[in-house]
Amino acid sequence: MPIQLLSTDVSSKIAAGEVIERPASAVKELIENSLDAGATRISVDVMGGGSESIRISDNGTGIPSDEVGLAFQRFATSKVSTTKDLASISTLGFRGEALPSIAAVSEVTMITRSSDEPTGMRYENTGIDTSTPKLAGAPIGTTITVRRLFGNFPARRKFLKTTGTENSRIQTSVIRYALAYPEVKFDLNCDNKKKFTSPGNGELRSVIGAVYGLKIAEQMLVLPATNENEISLDINGLLSQPSVNRANRSYISFFVNRRWVQNRFLVYALEQAYHGFMAERRFPIGVLNITMPFEDVDVNAHPTKAEVRFLRENQVFAALQRVVRQALLTDSPVPQIQNITPTQTQKSQIGSHTAGSFWPTKPFAHVSAADQTKLLEIAGWSETHDDFQHVGQSDEIVRSIPSDTLPILRVIGQIQSTYVVAEAPDGMYLIDQHAAHERVTFERVKSEAISKAASVQTLMEPVLLELSPDNKNSLEKHLDAVKALGFVVEFFGGDSFLLRGVPSLVGEANPSEALLDILDFINDGGGYESWEERAAYSIACHSSIRAGKVLTYQEMIELIRQLEECVQPNTCPHGRPTMIHLTTGRIEREFGRR
Ligand code: ADP
Ligand code: MG
Repeated sequence: MPIQLLSTDVSSKIAAGEVIERPASAVKELIENSLDAGATRISVDVMGGGSESIRISDNGTGIPSDEVGLAFQRFATSKVSTTKDLASISTLGFRGEALPSIAAVSEVTMITRSSDEPTGMRYENTGIDTSTPKLAGAPIGTTITVRRLFGNFPARRKFLKTTGTENSRIQTSVIRYALAYPEVKFDLNCDNKKKFTSPGNGELRSVIGAVYGLKIAEQMLVLPATNENEISLDINGLLSQPSVNRANRSYISFFVNRRWVQNRFLVYALEQAYHGFMAERRFPIGVLNITMPFEDVDVNAHPTKAEVRFLRENQVFAALQRVVRQALLTDSPVPQIQNITPTQTQKSQIGSHTAGSFWPTKPFAHVSAADQTKLLEIAGWSETHDDFQHVGQSDEIVRSIPSDTLPILRVIGQIQSTYVVAEAPDGMYLIDQHAAHERVTFERVKSEAISKAASVQTLMEPVLLELSPDNKNSLEKHLDAVKALGFVVEFFGGDSFLLRGVPSLVGEANPSEALLDILDFINDGGGYESWEERAAYSIACHSSIRAGKVLTYQEMIELIRQLEECVQPNTCPHGRPTMIHLTTGRIEREFGRR
C-alpha cells in the first residue's frame, strides 16, 4: 500500500482509542468537562458497566447554542487558544478531543442550556450521523448521554471486563474527583442503584467520610501550613495517623492543581516520611493537594493527563516530606509495638517487658537498649559478623544446612520476651518468635485455603460491617475466596454485612479489621503470586504472636516444632529471617578453646 493520508473517519477512531479506553475514561472526560464548566452538582448514571449507557448531568455554565455542534469537532476547545496558553493550563481539559473521541465510538445525545439563554439545545451525534441542534426545554447546565460505547468495535469491547469491574473503575474515578472537589456534590448510580454520593459541603473530611467511613475520617491528621515561598508551593490535605494503615497504596491520592495524578516519586516521598512511624509494608490513607503555579507543572505529558512533570521536582518531594513529617511528629501518638522490625525506641520498650519465666532474673534489664546493642556487638554478636549469620544467607551455613530444612532444635528458653533460644548439634539458634509464628501461620492458611479446609471460629456476637463502596465491591467480587479462608459473611442490606465467623487463626481480636485487610490484599497487596498467598500473608500478620509476649516453655516447644515442619522455615513471609545461628566453632573461638 502506498503512503496515503487516513480519512478523518479512520484517523478520528484511532485517536479516540487513545483517549477513550474504557467506560471509566469516558466518565472521567465528561466529569472534567462539567468541572471546567463550574458545576457544583454532577450526577453520573451508568447502565451495564457503562457499555449500555452513561449519563452525566451537571449544573455548569452550559454551551452557547451556536457552539453546540462545534464542541464535537476535533481540537475544538474553549479552554486554550495560543501556544502560550499551553504553558499554563488551568482547566482539566484543553485538547478538545474528548467529545469527538467519545462520539466516534458511541451514540451521544447532548442537552445543554447556557446560563445566558432562555432555552436549551438538543443535539445528537453518532459519529457518522449528526443532527442539527434543536431547541429544547432544559435547566441551565449540560446532560450528556453516551449509548452503546464501542458498540461497533468488537475488538475494543472484548477487552472490557465484567460489569462489576467496569462499575468499580467508574466509581474509583468519580471518587477521585469527589476528593479533589469537596465543594461539588457527586452522585453515582449504577444500574439504578446508588453507589456513591458526596456531600458537596466543601469539607474534605466529609468526603473522606463518604469514601472511607466516618471512623477513619475523624482521625485524619491535618497537614500543617506549607511555607515554601521560594518555589510558591502549597500542600494541604488529610493523612491517617500511623496506627490507621492499609495493606496497599490504593488509599493514597495525590492531586496537583486539583488534577488527580499518578507519580511514584510522590508516593515514595510520602512513604519515606512515614518511615519509622508505620510498620513495614503498611501504607497510610491520605488525600494530598499540591498547588503550584500552572507554569511549573506540565500536564500535557500523556493522553489521559494523569502523568505530570514538575519543573522543580526535588523541591516538591522535599517539601512534601517536610510537611508530612511535621504533621506526624506534632500529632501522632507514640508508635506501638506492632512492628515486625522494632525501631530503636521500640527496642527499649521490648527490653522493659517482663522476661520469660525461664529466666530467674531479667537479662540486660539494667542497661539501656543502645547499650544492649553495643554489648552484643562487643561480644561479637553483631549481625555483620561471619559466624553470626541469618540462616540461609551465609554461604557457609547454606552448605551445612540445606536452606529448606532445619536441624532438630532443643528449646532452652526465651529472652527479652521476644526471642526463643534453642540449640542444635551445630550451635545455638536465636529465633524471632513473631517472624517464626508468621511463617507457620502463613503456610497453614495457604494450604487450608487451597484445600478449602479452613477451620472457622464462630463469633460470639456477629459484627456489623459498614463497608465503603470500594470494599463492598471487592467483597462481592471475592466472596468465594473470602469464604474459603474461613470468613462467614452475610449480606445485610445497603452497604452492610454481618460477620458471623472468622478463620480460627485470626481469633476474635479484631475480626472486622482482619477482613478489611484481606480485601485489600486479595485486590493487590504485596506482590504475592496467588490470592491464597496474599490472604495468608494478611492473616499471618494479624494472628501472629507479637514480640514482647511471654511464652510458656510448652508454647515455645510447640512453635519450634511447627516451624520445623514448614516448607520454608528460614524466613517470614516478608522475607526477613526467622532465626540467626551462632555456630559451635564461633562459640569455641570466643572462649579461646580453639
Ligand atoms: P476540552 O475539554 O479539551 O476543551 P472537549 O472535547 O472535552 O474538549 O469539550 C469541547 C468543548 O465543549 C469544551 O471546551 C467546552 O467548551 C464544551 N463543553 C464540553 N462539555 C461541557 C459541559 N459539560 N459544560 C459546558 N461546556 C462543555
Ligand atoms: Mg474535556
